[in-house]
Order: sequence, then structure tokens, then C-alpha cells
Amino acid sequence: MKYDVIIIGGGVTGCAIARSLSKYDLSIALLEKHEDVCSETSKANSGIVHSGYDPEPGTLMAKLNVEGSAKIAKLSKELDFEYKRNGSMIISFDKKDAPKLKELYDRGIANGVEQMELLDGDEARKIEPNLSDEVQGALLCKTGGIVDPFGLTYALAENAYVNGAEFIFNSTVTSVKKENGIYQIQTSNGKTYEATYVVNAAGVYADKIHNFVSNKKLHITAKRGNYMLLDNEVGDLVTHTIFQLPTDLGKGVLVTPTAHGNIMIGPTSVSQNDKEDTSTRPEDLEVVKEQALHSVSNIPFRKVITSFSGLRAAEDGGDFVLGEVEDSENFFDAAGIKSPGLSCSPAIGDHIADMVAKKANASEKKNFIATRKGQIRTKDMNQEEYTALIKKNPDYGTIVCRCEQVTEGEIIDAIKRPLGATSLDGIKRRCRAGMGRCQAGFCTARTMEILSEQLGIPMDEVCKNEKGSEILKGEDE
Ligand SMILES: Cc1cc2nc3c(=O)[nH]c(=O)nc-3n(C[C@H](O)[C@H](O)[C@H](O)COP(=O)(O)OP(=O)(O)OC[C@H]3O[C@@H](n4cnc5c(N)ncnc54)[C@H](O)[C@@H]3O)c2cc1C
Repeated sequence: MKYDVIIIGGGVTGCAIARSLSKYDLSIALLEKHEDVCSETSKANSGIVHSGYDPEPGTLMAKLNVEGSAKIAKLSKELDFEYKRNGSMIISFDKKDAPKLKELYDRGIANGVEQMELLDGDEARKIEPNLSDEVQGALLCKTGGIVDPFGLTYALAENAYVNGAEFIFNSTVTSVKKENGIYQIQTSNGKTYEATYVVNAAGVYADKIHNFVSNKKLHITAKRGNYMLLDNEVGDLVTHTIFQLPTDLGKGVLVTPTAHGNIMIGPTSVSQNDKEDTSTRPEDLEVVKEQALHSVSNIPFRKVITSFSGLRAAEDGGDFVLGEVEDSENFFDAAGIKSPGLSCSPAIGDHIADMVAKKANASEKKNFIATRKGQIRTKDMNQEEYTALIKKNPDYGTIVCRCEQVTEGEIIDAIKRPLGATSLDGIKRRCRAGMGRCQAGFCTARTMEILSEQLGIPMDEVCKNEKGSEILKGEDE
């Protein structure tokens, strides 16, 4: 199979690039090793849309961050995903750190960030009453936001798909070679795909993919970040995202509301050689707890409903690696996309797509579909709207996930929509069935039945995620 462009990796970066490229008259395929997009780092992060005060002024990262943040706000309306401009606060615990907050403020100004304000501890506590007494100062950034990272990734992917991009799942790229000017991309599914242009968006494995075609090697270290998620019952603990002053290890432990009204605390930063290990460890969670209590008092840890971790893709050079590879024409990297990669994603998508389209001399499509309607959320409807919906389709009248109040109709929609869910995790991330306090203890069985019915597969083929994660081992004798 031959395409103009093949993108390797279906995280938020690859999906943003696919969406931006799908504006052009190009044949595009995205190869992803899992059964769905958003299955690695893009599913396990803080979900913060950083306003852009942190990156070094003048860097590409700073430019893409400020641009990306504005693009996400606009896209959330056009592509219909959860995003809130809740504002963020960077707090300090020592009056002596006031110059560091001022430095961030100045950096923000240099990067073009608007609506920032320096506060003392009491002023900060007036806005966020649960801040601890240790807080001595804060930088308030009103343009900081929170996004549903799954929602953003699915929105980009679905929109790319309806605009003609192909998504090929369960396909791990095992080698990339160039023959007679065409890239030959071999995959674990036994197929070889050909493309004139390749975009590498393989997350923590982007070094491996790059190193197939270049003598100028990249090296990416996975840095694990552990989190705790609290029940939405205590979702008003803070309204802003509360950061501590950043250190060499990263942006530190934060306390934030999520786009769906939970409270999230974390992450740690632990470098590791293993690029698959996303375990959560008690010692890391202790660090999260201890650090978070400096920021916010009385965190109700008994309301923790789950813990998880994600891997940052830290390239040795410290910056994003974006653009055409010097010694491999028509091969483009989007590598080392660590934080604020989520915030930058739509800007990275446009940046790479512009470069590829220019090289390919591609023209813009006349019939590009720029908008998309997201999932129905019955939970957000008023009684009148809900009653009318049930009249039209009674499937919306049966609640399957009690914690998040997700109906059968919403689960079916998650399966049937463009690039629909094929696994329990795919359903959970699209419509939140299984995301609540019982963590799918109650709804798994019924959700499996719906998957089985809708996909026309036996129950013992229904998977949590990819093949090999079947829930049932066979029927009872
Ligand atoms: C702890 C933590 C907190 C973060 N918090 C924030 C935040 O609050 N705000 C923010 O802006 N950013 C944040 N980030 C960064 C952000 O999450 C990442 O920059 C972003 O998700 C990276 O997306 P990606 O698509 O590049 O990588 P991924 O999401 O990892 O996607 C890469 C994809 O490539 C696929 N792949 C890999 N190898 C192959 C292969 N050989 N063949 C086929 N497919 C392959 C993988 O399966 C995967 O789906 C955080 C990151 C972490 C880890």
C-alpha cells in the first residue's frame, strides 16, 4: 500500500498532525501499535493547557505553547471537546522565592502570555481558600486551562478520519528503509507500507524510529510520573491548577481540577530505562501526597479512586525535535514531545503539516470539514432535553455506568462513531463509562455485552484494550 504521507504514532501529536495534514490533497495513513489512538502518554498526563510562562523565551517550544494554548481554546468549540480556562497559580513557600516568581512572570510577558498577576500568600488564599498556610506568594495566570486529553485526541483523530486520513491499528513499525526515494515501512502485522513522506510521532519510541533512517542519533529517556485521582465528590477542593515553583525535575507536583470535575494530584518524575513500565508504586505515591500537602491543606486522601502513571519522552537535547531530518530527506520528526506537548499539539500539527505540504507542493482541499460533533452527554442535559432524547431513542434511558451516569445510548455512540471504540478502555475514554469511583466494578459486564452485540463478536473476544487482554477465558462448561 502506497501513501503520500505515513504518520507513525497515534498519540495527540500524531493525531494533530494527521488532522492538519488532512486539510491538504494528500493520501495519509497513521500507523499505531495499539488498537486505538490515545493509548500511551497522551492518556496519562495532567491535562493542563499551559499558558506558556515556563518555556525559555525565543525557543520554538515557547512559540508553540502560546499558539497551541490559543488553538485548543478555539478547537474545543469547533471539534466539541471538554476544555475550561480555569486559570493556574504557581506558588512559592518562601518569601525569598519572590524573584523566581517574578522571573516566570517576565518570561510569560516575553512569550506573549496575557493576564498574569503576582500575589502574596494572603491574596492567593483569598482566591483559593484551601491553599496551605505555607504559601507565601503566587503567580496567577488567568489563561491557564484544563482539557480532557482523551477528548482532544479523539476529536483530532475523528476529524482527520472524516477528512480522509486512514488509521491502521495493531501495527507496530519494526523498520523503516528508503528505496528509490520511497520509504518502506515494515510492521508487525506482516505488511509493508510505502510512503513518499514519513512523520515520526512515536512518543517514547521516536528515537528508535528516527534512528532507522538517520546517522545523527536521538536518545529518549522515559520519565515516569505518578498520579492520584480523587472522586468528583471533592471536585471543588481547588478551582485553579496549583503548581509549585518548577525545578530541574520538571513542573513539580500539582493539585488541579480535571475537565470532568475530579481532583488530580501529581506527578512525580522518575527516569527509567524501561519504556513500557507505567506501574504506580507506593513510594512514589507517598512523595505525591507529601508534596501536595505543602500546596493544599486537608486533601481528603480517602477519596482517591485510582492512581496511574505516564511516561514523559525526554530527548537528551532537552527540547522538542521538530522538522525534516538533516540526513534523511522527506522524513520528519515530532520527537521528544514532553510537557507541554499536549498544550502545543495543535500548533505542532500545523507546524509539521505546513512543512510536509510545502515539500509535497500540495494544495488545500476545498471540501475540508472543519467541525465535528462530540458525544452526547446525557448527564449535562436538563430534564426536558433528556426526556425528548429518550423519546427519540430509548437506549439513552438506561444507565449503565452509575458513577458517571453513562447510558447505553452513549456507549453505543462511542462504538459507532467515526473511529469508534473496540475495547473497554476505548469506551471508557470516549464516554467515561468506568471512569468513576467504582472504576468499572459495576458496569464492566454490561459494557462487555454491548461491545459484543455491536461489534458482532463473542463475549470471550471482548478485550480491555488490545488482543491478549480478553476479560473472559471461555464459556462455563
Ligand atoms: C506525567 C506527565 C504529565 C504531563 N502533563 C502535561 C500537561 O499537563 N500539559 C501538557 O501540555 N503536556 C503534558 N505532558 C506531556 C504530554 O502528555 C505529551 O507531550 C503528549 O501526550 C505526547 O504525545 P505523543 O503523541 O507525542 O506521544 P504518545 O501519546 O506516547 O503517542 C505515541 C504513540 O506512538 C505509538 N508508537 C510508538 N512506537 C510505535 C511503533 N513502533 N509503531 C507504531 N506505533 C508506535 C504509541 O503506541 C503511541 O500511541 C505530560 C506528560 C507526562 C508523562
